[in-house]
Amino acid sequence: AAKTAEFIWFNGEIMPWGDAKVHVMSHALHYGTSVFEGIRVYDTHLGPAGFRLTEHVQRLYDSAKIYRMPIPYCFDDTMQACRDAVLSNKLNSAYIRPLAFYGDVGMGITPPKDAQCDLLVAAFPWGAYLGEESMERGVDVAVTSWNRLAPNTIPTGAKAGGNYLSSLQISTEAKRNGFDEGIALDVNGLVSEAAGANLFVIKKNKLYTPPATAAILMGITRDTIITLARDSGYEVVEEAMSREFLYLADEIFMTGTAAELVPVRSVDRIEVDAGKRGPITKAIQQRFFGLFNGETEDKWGWLEPL
Ligand code: PMP
Repeated sequence: AAKTAEFIWFNGEIMPWGDAKVHVMSHALHYGTSVFEGIRVYDTHLGPAGFRLTEHVQRLYDSAKIYRMPIPYCFDDTMQACRDAVLSNKLNSAYIRPLAFYGDVGMGITPPKDAQCDLLVAAFPWGAYLGEESMERGVDVAVTSWNRLAPNTIPTGAKAGGNYLSSLQISTEAKRNGFDEGIALDVNGLVSEAAGANLFVIKKNKLYTPPATAAILMGITRDTIITLARDSGYEVVEEAMSREFLYLADEIFMTGTAAELVPVRSVDRIEVDAGKRGPITKAIQQRFFGLFNGETEDKWGWLEPL
């Protein structure tokens, strides 16, 4: 089995990684009933710090609320579980994965009224999601034949396990066809997001990103980049965009906790401008990563030392 850290927090206890087990009849395994988060801890000038940890934990509770899933731990306990998962493994930088799910609560699709969720928090090292070299070189993406979820089917605003069947289709189709990652359109044919990251397009020094109504997850990195770009003097708009807008972009990049900020150098084999990382992408990348060594002033209190 893959073991990525020594210890894991599971239902209120720190235990050896291999001891955190669930029953094969777990509801989440059969029906996808889980909600989760992905949070990065950076080794900063202030020491190991969770990046916007509170907002990520809030989004976990928001996702649970959408599905009426009762998480049997209070907000502060979950915050502490995140810290403890990192500290027990003596990690200075990490990816934290909290996940609430329905365990062995019976086979009915609707869990019994009194059913509680289980909660786990794992923390483990995770480098650049799409490879270190991609941060400068950029990646090749394709618009996939799979659309993002329709808003009246499964809510994309919740970060739920089941949503990632959509992401899996988007990502694997792209990779099968020799691309690094897939971009999906929404059911209206407008640009949505990548399998696990949001999208930004730059045209004439202005930044564009699809709005909440484009079947996206409202990324916390997306919000970070909107804030940093505006602080740097760029105009940023949340606006619906068509596929061909990607082909005519000056620059494109993707954002996410795992992906961080990755330039896109081509879409459907059409080069984005010169086919390499553009100057504004580079400048915003520097401001983003500058948060973690103090070069960028954290005016927003995003760094939360453990
Ligand atoms: N969209 C999807 C589908 C994702 O899985 C993620 C990663 N959580 C994102 C966008 C980016 O969100 P964030 O910046 O909050 O990690």
